[in-house]
Amino acid sequence: MMLQPGLMMDRPLLISSILEHSAAQFGDVEIVSRETHGPLFRYTYADCAVRARQLASALAAAGLQQGSAVGSIAWNNHRHLEAYYAVSGSGMVMHTCNPRLHPQQLIYIINHAEDEVMLFDSTFAPLVKGIAAHCPKVKHWVCLSDAANLPVIEGVQAIAYEDWIAPHSSDFIWPEFDERSGAALCYTSGTTGNPKGALYSHRAIVLNAITGCLPGVLDFSPKQTVLPVVPMFHINAWCIPYAAPIGGAKLVLPGPRLDGASLYELIEAEQVTLSAGVPTIWQALIGHVEQNGLRFSSMRRTAVGGSAMPAALIAKFADVYDVEVRHGWGMTETTAVATMTSMSPAEMALSASERHALVAKQGKTVFGIQIKVVDEHGHTLPRDGSSQGELMVRGQWIIQSYFKGEKSPLVDGWFPTGDIATIDAQGLMQIRDRTKDVIKTGGEWISSIDLENAAVGHPAVAMAAVIGIKHPKWDERPLLFIVRKPGQTLEKEEILAFLTERVAKWWVPDDVVFLESLPVGGTGKVQKNDLRKEYGGVFS
Ligand code: ADP
Repeated sequence: MMLQPGLMMDRPLLISSILEHSAAQFGDVEIVSRETHGPLFRYTYADCAVRARQLASALAAAGLQQGSAVGSIAWNNHRHLEAYYAVSGSGMVMHTCNPRLHPQQLIYIINHAEDEVMLFDSTFAPLVKGIAAHCPKVKHWVCLSDAANLPVIEGVQAIAYEDWIAPHSSDFIWPEFDERSGAALCYTSGTTGNPKGALYSHRAIVLNAITGCLPGVLDFSPKQTVLPVVPMFHINAWCIPYAAPIGGAKLVLPGPRLDGASLYELIEAEQVTLSAGVPTIWQALIGHVEQNGLRFSSMRRTAVGGSAMPAALIAKFADVYDVEVRHGWGMTETTAVATMTSMSPAEMALSASERHALVAKQGKTVFGIQIKVVDEHGHTLPRDGSSQGELMVRGQWIIQSYFKGEKSPLVDGWFPTGDIATIDAQGLMQIRDRTKDVIKTGGEWISSIDLENAAVGHPAVAMAAVIGIKHPKWDERPLLFIVRKPGQTLEKEEILAFLTERVAKWWVPDDVVFLESLPVGGTGKVQKNDLRKEYGGVFS
């Protein structure tokens, strides 16, 4: 039987409508942005919409058309935000580039995406100098600054953003088009082979951003002041630049200053209520707060993801500083978060340490997403909290195929994540490891994440990482790297004894290497490949 079509309007879900909505409903809500040269800039959603339309006019005047790509190599700031809206709102593709990619990879993705304009922060002028000659399609190099702060870049005719948009009208009318059109493009970090592009549609971003506003997810409303530390150059800053204006939350953009002291100062000055970032950033922030005996006067919640948030840090935020941690999981291929901490009433009634242990897992799916774990034959494993296999995901904002990719990565309509996970009967998912990081020993698996989290529980440990080292008898054995907190004198025997009390005996690492710091990549994750290159010999 033919289904009766619904009789509602078929209006497209477009990114331009988000900014116009916030300009109309929350016109006087502030956006505060750290300029790359230091001072804070502040204006409103209404002002931002005017300038986004001006930028859209400038892009059209430069000859760009629907489908053209505009790149950015930029911090979280108000001009980058305007570009998010102007570019996608015009029907063009906003290609955010991760400045910490190897220059060869940057050149590759800029050419692959066919960027015609490149928006960059002055911090990255040396990078631009090195890559510009290799990016022939880029017609305009636009520095996100005014003329006074425009750097001179040998061999590149750069123009200041303010000068570029000034002559253009803010009367731009946002075009209407299919909501399935490409809006934003982000490439994976490409630790093996070339980076691959995830092309997010307007529909995917708008749906994800609406979900992000739910009270159980990020809870955006005019009562919130949100600080996204998670970079706008990677996975759309978890779609916070789209979700905050939907809910009318004040937006605070930290620019280039991401150290603990600067973040603390910004959080207090702007009375931030909610922040979002990776665990390494929060570790630095808490380090600063502890060393200086400080408190948070307004921040009551932080969203964390990108890598596993250790229970010890969750406990510190919650018990010492009264900051609730919401732990999410997502990846470049999932537009933003796919799972997030979500407690049932029974779970909320548990003891503090039991609750922190639950938060240390990666949460339950947000509406719109489905997950399952499968064994090596693709059979779905039970949701019993202990059967572990590859995590598969599907939903309205999960990748279908890579940009210009020939073969779809999907398996029976599901995206294989490369993560190993368990799911329990309540739907709570736990990432146990990445397939490439898990330590295979004597036919069993050791979760490097679990070992790292246990080690970080020691009061003298600032950071920990574990890699598998080839072993003649056991195949692989764990090697632990520790960065001590300043002034601490932890030794190998003590940390191994500490771990022996907390993990199975056969999990205890064979050796410990103490380092001054760990190699951390542009998205705040420990670069285990670098550790493997330097230390990945053979245990005897
Ligand atoms: P890359 O790390 O290669 O740059 P992504 O930024 O897309 O790629 O990162 C996605 C990966 O990060 C996931 O597949 C997962 O391994 C890891 N990840 C993300 N969030 C979490 C989390 N909360 N806990 C543990 N791992 C996480």
